[in-house]
Amino acid sequence: MAKFLLFLAVIAVIYFFVRAANRRSKPPASAAKPEAMVRCAHCGVHFPGAEALSLDGRDYCSEEHRRLGAGP
Ligand SMILES: [Zn+2]
Repeated sequence: MAKFLLFLAVIAVIYFFVRAANRRSKPPASAAKPEAMVRCAHCGVHFPGAEALSLDGRDYCSEEHRRLGAGP
């Protein structure tokens, strides 16, 4: 009986460590999906590509900068 309890304790400890290791190795959601950064053709600021406004193959950070076009 004592051996059975010891066996259960070992299993519980292994289970605990495996769970802890899985949690630690899991990358944060933000690191899992690195967002592509693009550069505004007008002001040069870098921002996530998902927010980019494109015109003639160039990316802009805002509607105003897209209207103003590429900067110097
Ligand atoms: Zn801009």
